[in-house]
Amino acid sequence: MNYQEMTKILKEALNLRWDPVAVRLMRPGEEQPAGTIEPSIPLRHCQSLKIARRGNSLYMPPRSHACPDGSGILGLTEMSAKLRSGDLYLLFKKLPSLEIAQKMIASRPEFPAGSYEATLVAPLDEAQFDPDVVIFTLYPEQAMWLCCAQTYATGERQNFQTSGFNSACADLVVKTMKNGQMNISFGCYGARASSDINDFELYLSIPVAQLEAIVQALQKLGQKSIPEERRKIYMHPVMDKIGQRRPESTAGSVRIPDIFVDKELCNGCGLCEAFCPASVLKLTVENGVEIIEVVQPELCSLCYTCVGQCPELAIQIR
Ligand code: SF4
Ligand code: SF4
Repeated sequence: MNYQEMTKILKEALNLRWDPVAVRLMRPGEEQPAGTIEPSIPLRHCQSLKIARRGNSLYMPPRSHACPDGSGILGLTEMSAKLRSGDLYLLFKKLPSLEIAQKMIASRPEFPAGSYEATLVAPLDEAQFDPDVVIFTLYPEQAMWLCCAQTYATGERQNFQTSGFNSACADLVVKTMKNGQMNISFGCYGARASSDINDFELYLSIPVAQLEAIVQALQKLGQKSIPEERRKIYMHPVMDKIGQRRPESTAGSVRIPDIFVDKELCNGCGLCEAFCPASVLKLTVENGVEIIEVVQPELCSLCYTCVGQCPELAIQIR
């Protein structure tokens, strides 16, 4: 699958607001790829992501990096002693003491100065280079589905490491490149103060080696799970009843739910039987036609899964 095909699937499955951004750290000796331009003014690395997600391909040597913290963390330049000391965090009142600042700096993922010669950023489907990571700007729900897709592909849960500091450089590029795992970031002071990321958006980065498997998994999830979640299939049957007292028998025990299956509507697909966690429903044959029968209503937990899954809206529970 090429990057154009992957981008198409990602955009359609997640309904992305912004293009995924391909990011590469240029190794010593590499040449500026065709189709990239150097920005006319220096930009922070986090700002360059915002410009790339709007359709621009940028070549960013050290002279084009406005943030010395970011270019140092990315291994493009030597970080100044003043920045390295943690002093500035105290001046900005972002950290309470030099000890705390130095502890944060020591635990921050970084590349050694001189490891790389420039950054490249471009919309994934237009990238004229092989990215190291792909960075997404997402709503939490879209990030959730990328996590689900990675788990679908690997069976693994995510193990994010992030902070509110050095978001776009340390957490989204260096961390992801170093451990080869998806990482998340909520942005940082600099990234939010200098760009247009919205309050309800976050970032997620994926190492390029994992991208295709995640995209394939997302395509599978898009066949059922994603559209169902977006239709909120379990919400309405329950929310419609919030506020009603759950009926109880005179003896104090919970009343057996009244599960009604409209036999005119039921098409015998068996989805409700398959999804019911309590084996309340059973597919039976009636007059030569498969139909659902309520066989153990006393076991019903009122989870409404059957109601949400039924394609014919044939089930009501009272
Ligand atoms: S899910 Fe709906 S249509 Fe399918 S068997 Fe159950 S009641 Fe019938
Ligand atoms: S509400 Fe839940 S437990 Fe009750 S019949 Fe439907 S799926 Fe089964």
